[in-house]
Amino acid sequence: MRDKELYKQIMGIHSPWEVTDVELSMATEEVTVHVGQEAGTQQTCPHCGTPCSGYDKRYRRWRHLDTCQFKTLLVAEVPRVKCPQHGIVTVKVPWAEPGSGFTALYEALVIDWLKEASIQAVSRQLSLSWNAIDGIMQRAVKRGLARRQTEPVTHIGVDETAFKKGHDYVTIVSDGKRVLHVADERKTSSLDSYYDTLTDEQKAGIVSISMDMWPAYIKATLENIPDARAKIAFDKFHVAKYLGAAVDKVRKYDHMDLGTPLWGVEDDSMEGGGRERLEHVLEVETRQEQRSRSNCRGRI
Ligand SMILES: [Zn+2]
Repeated sequence: MRDKELYKQIMGIHSPWEVTDVELSMATEEVTVHVGQEAGTQQTCPHCGTPCSGYDKRYRRWRHLDTCQFKTLLVAEVPRVKCPQHGIVTVKVPWAEPGSGFTALYEALVIDWLKEASIQAVSRQLSLSWNAIDGIMQRAVKRGLARRQTEPVTHIGVDETAFKKGHDYVTIVSDGKRVLHVADERKTSSLDSYYDTLTDEQKAGIVSISMDMWPAYIKATLENIPDARAKIAFDKFHVAKYLGAAVDKVRKYDHMDLGTPLWGVEDDSMEGGGRERLEHVLEVETRQEQRSRSNCRGRI
């Protein structure tokens, strides 16, 4: 296999693009792959797809995955076209995103490394500047967000997290595996800002929304999600907490009705000697506790 065909295959270059030359520099330890368009290629506007006449060409280069120990660069003269609607614009190339100096495969490699190591380590190992890494991350985030607009959303969880000694809150929306949205504070508008990113189809496709019993989140969900009442699920912790408090309250008042208030009921309005009975109960309880402790000591 000739070097041009080899690089065409391994770099995934296909019509109307072709590998026109491959250069190897032993001095700089670099492989430079030249790519060009086939003769007679019809140019189109990258924004609207309208067939356009060529305007000029711009020399561009991208860093690609290394060939063994050799740094590998892809270079091409990229046509610019003159679109009646969008003016003079550069055509899209299939191996890289607009504005990037790296091929898509190289950016994927950097993102994979960033999942394993710090930015500092990746910067050092791949000889990349922080700005270059930041650009790669920004483009990855943009791609991820663009993908999300078409993804169905089914089960989400809404939670609040406090920071700065518990005085500031952020609202976090997740799907159980990843964070979908973060907003300041824990207001209705905080959760509204997530719902605003969804299409009507995505909103209708939500099956369940798990949250604590926070009125602002309930309000935002009722206002944004069709049939929200059937979809809101309160988390177990808060349900158990409120249920426990409610049961305790009922228990205390039941005992008051029966005239046998329990300790813990601090009510000056108790009538019929209730307070005395409460104090008596407390006294008996204290004595029993002291006896129990003393028995324990005896056994030890
Ligand atoms: Zn156009």
